[in-house]
Amino acid sequence: MMGAGPVPIPARVAAANSIVINHLGDTMSQIIEQVKQMSGYVFQTRSSRILGVAGPGSAAMEMAVANLIEPGDKCLCVCNGFFSNRLAEMAERNGADVIRHQVQAGQAASTELVEQSLAEHRPRILTIVQGETSNTVCNRTLAEICKAAQRYNCLIIVDAVCTLSTMPLNMDEWGIDAIITGGQKGLSSIPGVSLVAFSQKAWQRITDRKSPMKHWCLDAKLADQFWYQKAYHYTAPVSGVLAIHEALRLICNETLPARFSRHLRSSMALQAGIEAMGLALYVQPQHRLNSVVGISLPDNIEGAALLHCMSSHYRVEISGSFGARIVRIGQMGEQSRAHNIFRTLHALGASLASLGAVVDVPAGVSALEKSLQAFDQQTQFPVPAPMDALSA
Ligand SMILES: *Cc1c(COP(=O)(O)O)cnc(C)c1O
Repeated sequence: MMGAGPVPIPARVAAANSIVINHLGDTMSQIIEQVKQMSGYVFQTRSSRILGVAGPGSAAMEMAVANLIEPGDKCLCVCNGFFSNRLAEMAERNGADVIRHQVQAGQAASTELVEQSLAEHRPRILTIVQGETSNTVCNRTLAEICKAAQRYNCLIIVDAVCTLSTMPLNMDEWGIDAIITGGQKGLSSIPGVSLVAFSQKAWQRITDRKSPMKHWCLDAKLADQFWYQKAYHYTAPVSGVLAIHEALRLICNETLPARFSRHLRSSMALQAGIEAMGLALYVQPQHRLNSVVGISLPDNIEGAALLHCMSSHYRVEISGSFGARIVRIGQMGEQSRAHNIFRTLHALGASLASLGAVVDVPAGVSALEKSLQAFDQQTQFPVPAPMDALSA
């Protein structure tokens, strides 16, 4: 499972997912307390409103959008691709006056251009993805874009489904008002339980709402009853909550600095191997996402044939694309381990060769190994921080 999600899960997460407990008992309320506490570390926030959602990452997106937008609100949506456009579509469906800030294909959003749009339109809300999984672009200046949005007194919704816990994201320091994540990508948990964190300001906006929420399941104030008041909203997906609890615990044990370092080491080595094999990466380094790596297909190769060959001959699953002539390899959670990238790079190279592409597989594997070694020589792995540590 080396595609753009779902990603493999640790055995302990699978074991946690096999249990059903009382959704309103004492054990569950302890689990919920710990999920909120550990999520605070992973989101880097002291927010007192972290809510779980029974549903995909998209349900968390919809929860953030539907609760923060009231009909007629101006909403600036930074659109880099498929998932950032989904946020815009959700905002429209919730009655917002949506302005799409279109970013050039294959590029990260420019802070200056977003700031111009902010000045021109004075939106009430900004939506943006940290990583655009669909075309492997990363909005690398997200921190600066958030600062700019704050200057225009604009609420900021960030989609971190594929990036959370794979690269730095500091909710409080960057002034983000809502962060969305799913279970099955960066967190290496199961699909179906997602998380949203709201800032104080965002929560105030939600409690001050004039128009009623049309969604019952996604109503943040109703979800708050379960997540903060030990009361019934709907039957929580207990097994999935136990799974995400275990996934978060493993992240806290690993610590964020060590986890970011592991992801960077693995993704850079994979990228070096792909290039040394004679293939081109789709996005330029300064715009490139490391959590999902996009590879341009050689002219004579069809993506579907490549995916089929890798799956049937090598039992390695990677992802196709949403339009561009690329295939995508995930580097999220358990995918970012040396044994997984060696096997994937070999399967990619051998499959391409068997389909008639000119690739140098030994050179690729050698570059991968060299990149791992070079990283280990340069980098001292950080000392694990205490579990509740927030970055200074
Ligand atoms: C996968 C993904 C989503 C959607 O998650 P689902 O669980 O498929 O609904 C949203 N945003 C980004 C950036 C993603 O990578």
